[in-house]
Parts: sequence; structure tokens; C-alpha cells
Amino acid sequence: MGVGFKLLELLLRQKLLGKGLSATPNSPLIVSYAVTKACNLRCLHCHVSAREAMQGELNLTEATRVIDELSGLGTEALIFSGGEPLLRKDFVMALADYCVDLGIIPAMLSNGLLLSRKVAWQLKDAGIKAVGIPIDSVVPENHDKLRNLPGTFEKAVKAIKACKEVNLEVVVTTMALRDTYDEMPKRIEFLAKLGVEQVAVYDLVPVGRGRDIMDQAMSAEQRVNLIRYLHKMQDARDMVFTMSGGVPLFPEVVSEMHKHADSKPRDLLLKEFWIDSSVGCHAGLVYFSLRPNGDIYPCTFLPIKVGNVREQSVTEIWRGSPVLKELRQRSNLKGKCGDCAYRGVCGGCRGRAYACTGDYLESDPVCLQDLLVEEGIAPSEVERFGWCVG
Ligand code: SF4
Ligand code: SF4
Repeated sequence: MGVGFKLLELLLRQKLLGKGLSATPNSPLIVSYAVTKACNLRCLHCHVSAREAMQGELNLTEATRVIDELSGLGTEALIFSGGEPLLRKDFVMALADYCVDLGIIPAMLSNGLLLSRKVAWQLKDAGIKAVGIPIDSVVPENHDKLRNLPGTFEKAVKAIKACKEVNLEVVVTTMALRDTYDEMPKRIEFLAKLGVEQVAVYDLVPVGRGRDIMDQAMSAEQRVNLIRYLHKMQDARDMVFTMSGGVPLFPEVVSEMHKHADSKPRDLLLKEFWIDSSVGCHAGLVYFSLRPNGDIYPCTFLPIKVGNVREQSVTEIWRGSPVLKELRQRSNLKGKCGDCAYRGVCGGCRGRAYACTGDYLESDPVCLQDLLVEEGIAPSEVERFGWCVG
């Protein structure tokens, strides 16, 4: 099935049934693939501590073999990330083309530095469906400070414009941090003027270099305020927001808020890549992360090797890994998450739990339970989640 047909099917599911992507139990519906650890930036919050390329990054033959297997396992979307994936541009384009032939939707995350109009054309031509580009502040110096290099703000804005010029879908990714959280209204205003329709707001997960700026994570109050604010903005503007970085229930919470307010933004489902499966944290349940050297992690924010595609097939790893099996059984959870009525449909962010406690089955310190209760969302009503990794 070609990717065009897959998108049409998704659109129809959204328009006619009000549903997003559907997940077959135990299939890796969405996979992110960090094609290289090399990066032309050294961002302060980078969760993979990207720098130089890894020894033995997968070659084209190996990567296409993995994609063949993903197709057999029921993968519907493959997100290329890094490092900076455009440092392996030809590799990414060849793989995107291959995905399209197999009916897998390819997308990409990039810092935008190498994304000229010509490259945007090439990516679109190769079948890339959407590109995520970061804008972390409307004050250029503040964006550049987080990205650790002067001039990156201007280049990211140029990259967004280049994608829009060739009608390549853009999702702007933006960090919400304790000190910059207040800037969100200005940021949304700025992005709206740029013609951006989709924004993924990132919460900080203390992994990689992000661990060194953990004091910059939003407070619980700021997070809830932000969710309420984004809900209002989704109604007031023709924009769609999602939250990444371990907040998979954001779309469901906001959807309930829309129901209460009797409003429903246009195209919400398609744009947010909602998944019709009540699993919350999808690490190891309907998602995994492929690393440049073929290692597999349950999630890009949960850096535990559960196998390597050079030593075992993806199918063997996906079906046989003890860690993945443990993650799929929510009765294994401990502490507050273990006792929680929402554990089956939320499960907490396993990556954040691991980063904060050293145990991936422990409680997630960032918990939206109070908000779920306040909004009257019963566990049985949570039917979907939003893809929340980068
Ligand atoms: S305790 Fe909080 S984070 Fe854990 S499962 Fe319940 S609602 Fe989710
Ligand atoms: S561990 Fe789960 S909740 Fe956290 S970022 Fe990964 S998929 Fe999302």
C-alpha cells in the first residue's frame, strides 16, 4: 500500500470516524530512527548528547532491511532524527523513498541549519511528509544560547520559510522551560505570523545533556497552566498544538476540555498524529527507537539497549525482549503509578521515571492525575494518546 493511500485512509478515518492512526496490539506503529549521532550543533538540552558520528552507523543495506521488517510488523510512520539527519541527507532521502514504496509515512526532525529551499524540494520529492524544526525563543539570542551557536535562530526561520515555500508540512518544536515559559504567547504570535500551523511544545526530560539543565524543567503549576493556555489558543487560532517530552495524554486532556467548551478545532486528529490506543506511554508498546548503530531502545528518552539489529531480527527483539515485555505489563509499575487507576491508559513517562529514579518501573514525577480528575476524565474514557517523542 503506497503512502498516498495510507494518508487518504488516515484522512477518512479522521473526517468520517473522528479517529487517528490505529494501532494493532503489539505492533511498532511508530518508530523513530536516529540516522546519525553527528550534529552541527551542541544544544544544551540535547537528550542524545549528539556530537560526532558513532562508530559503525548502519549502512543503506542494513537500514532498508530494517524497514522491510518494520513493514511486516505493521509500522505506519518512521521519523528520521539524529544528531542532525541532514548530515546523511542522501541516506535519509533513499530511505524515505523506500518507506513510501512500502506504505510507511516518513517524517524528519532537523535543526534547520542545512535546510535550504533546494533541500526542502528534495525532501518533499523523496516523500518526506513533515519536518520538525525548532524555535526555542522569539529572542534570537535566547534561541542561540540554548542551541549553543550564534545565528541558528535566523537559519531555523529560513528553513521554516523554505519548507512552506515548497508546501512541505512543518511542525515547529519549541522548548517550554521554567524561565522561558512566560514567553509562550509571544512565541505563538511569532509562529502564527510565519504561517506555522502545527507546534509541538517540548517538556524537558532530563536525559543526555538535558540532565545538566534539569533545574530548567517547568514546575507542575506551570505545566498545567501551559496545557490550559494551549487549549485556549487551539480554539482562538487556527493552529494545532501537541506536547512532546513525556506528555502523551495532552491531546486527550485537551480534547475533553474542548468537549466541555463545546468546541473542536479543525483537523486536530490528523495534525497531531493521534493514535487510537489507550496506552499512554507508548515506549515498547507501539513504539521504539532505533539508534544509529542498530541498537534498539524502548524510547529515545529511555536509553536502555534491548537488542541490536545486527545481532537479532527486529521481530525477535520486539517480541522477545524481557524489558519490552515488562513495559507492556502495567501491573509491574511501582509507587504512585503502580497504584494509580490511570496506569493502564497513562503509565507515566517511563523515560522520565528512569532518568529521575534509575528504575524504569518507578513513578513518573510529572503526573497529570490531578488535572485528569479535575477535568472529569475517567480512565475508561481515555482512548487515545499523542506521539510524544523527538
Ligand atoms: S500516577 Fe500519574 S503518571 Fe502515573 S499512571 Fe497515574 S496519572 Fe499517570
Ligand atoms: S518514555 Fe513514554 S511518555 Fe516518555 S517520551 Fe517515551 S513514549 Fe513518551
